[in-house]
Amino acid sequence: MSALEAFDVVDIIRVKRDGGELSDPMIDWVVDAYTRAVVGDEQMAALAMAIFLRGMGSREIVRWTTAMMNSGERLDFSSLSKPTADKHSTGGVGDKITLPLAPLVACFDVAVPQLSGRGLGHTGGTLDKMESIRGWRAELSNSRVFDLLESGPGAVICAASDGLAPADKKLYALRDITATVDCIPLIASSIMSKKIAEGTSTLVLDVKVGSGAFMRNTEDARKLAETMVALGSNAGVKTSAFLTNMSVPLGLTVGNALEVRESVEVLAGGGPSDVVELTVKLAEEMLRLTGRVDVDVEAALKDGRAMDRWRQMVSAQGGDPDAPLPVADYQQQIVAEESGYLSKLDAWGVGICAWRLGAGRARKGEAVQESAGVEIHAKPGDRVVKGQPILTLHTDTPERFERSIDALDGAIEVTEEPPTETLDLILDRVTD
Ligand code: URA
Repeated sequence: MSALEAFDVVDIIRVKRDGGELSDPMIDWVVDAYTRAVVGDEQMAALAMAIFLRGMGSREIVRWTTAMMNSGERLDFSSLSKPTADKHSTGGVGDKITLPLAPLVACFDVAVPQLSGRGLGHTGGTLDKMESIRGWRAELSNSRVFDLLESGPGAVICAASDGLAPADKKLYALRDITATVDCIPLIASSIMSKKIAEGTSTLVLDVKVGSGAFMRNTEDARKLAETMVALGSNAGVKTSAFLTNMSVPLGLTVGNALEVRESVEVLAGGGPSDVVELTVKLAEEMLRLTGRVDVDVEAALKDGRAMDRWRQMVSAQGGDPDAPLPVADYQQQIVAEESGYLSKLDAWGVGICAWRLGAGRARKGEAVQESAGVEIHAKPGDRVVKGQPILTLHTDTPERFERSIDALDGAIEVTEEPPTETLDLILDRVTD
């Protein structure tokens, strides 16, 4: 350690290990020193585990978030002629909402800068989905994003630049391999440091709850939502959150090109009712936060305005909205083993299945199969007949079928009686 460094990281780890509070200077230093590689991965891993076990108070969370945000650049959209609205989902199975949502909200003269990520683990990533459209490119310069928002389609889905919250990039990768991801202070600061740095003036959070989400129960999800809403408001970003059900996959497709196809159906005024319901609800909330009330969001899906924006948005990033989407070389059906009611279709099992089919990656940087994934033919509550297909699995590499089918063990249940408990899609709303 250089003689000029303000702290010794071992002292900071010890404070948190013993259940103490980190001071503001300690937090500022440790996040900065980790970004500069003065604090090593092994030391940050120990601190992350201490935070995981001991938690952080609200002052510490605010300071940690600010320090991570200050580790890189901050975008500024304040000179745009319209307000900005952003949505962030904490990640789920079949969650393709960003695709129809961004062009839909842009129809109402609101700029939508959706800086998105790639999938890791069983949850899909928006950029992987968009890249199954022929020619579409995720990388855009900041000035091009600005131009597209001001005088182009008004909505942009693109990769966040490396300069945005670099401390979080390093820390997130480390948490992923040290069992410290599912920790409310670390998740909240990770998400909000990026979202605040992105420079949006309003933000709607979709906090997923259930087997396919980071938060398995409503209580934890509410705590995460409240923490993030408070962080946003504290930073001057108008923020609200919905808690939404992720115990069942969203919609009828899981996997990159399959989810693009479904999103286009929604933009054409059709699509599965749960995807439409959530898209409309989130759009209304984004517009409300920007001061647009009494707008008929559903009409923009039905009359083709949202579809026109989508086509402009795809073309502006080199994509061909008319190109056929890739289709997998191999397909296999999973059928009902008996007649009755589908009472369970577990999001976690279906997510792992799609991932193993090739829709996701096991390591950062790996290519995904554009066409791999799962098509869903029945949802919980539906009547099914023995032999009727419940899922179709898609992949280009048929040797993946066996392990993918193993992931469905216990994920599908058919019972004589219809399920008594059906969870609503939208469970709660959290505002400041
Ligand atoms: N998404 C993030 O960006 N960070 C987390 O910690 C979890 C989900």
